Amino acid sequence: MCKTVMKRLCPNCGAELELAVKSYPMGSALLKERFHADVYCCPNCQKIELFASEQKDMVVCPVCGSSHPAHEKCVTCALNSAFDGSHTN
Ligand SMILES: [Zn+2]
Ligand SMILES: [Zn+2]
Repeated sequence: MCKTVMKRLCPNCGAELELAVKSYPMGSALLKERFHADVYCCPNCQKIELFASEQKDMVVCPVCGSSHPAHEKCVTCALNSAFDGSHTN
């Protein structure tokens, strides 16, 4: 197994960026398909860069069919169950 680690370089000063937050869910939790981004920070000039997070561990929910990261609960189902029961006509 040969895995190449891609270095992220600061476009401002050229220093190597450090991963600050891994797979940060962008946008509202109400969105069905959330965009995940890795947040990188330059230790030299504090510039923040966002990169699209690799979604290798995405799973498709068998209940509602929406895809979500394997380490997260299905947001759509969580919202559905939250609204079920609390809102009965
Ligand atoms: Zn920099
Ligand atoms: Zn679901």
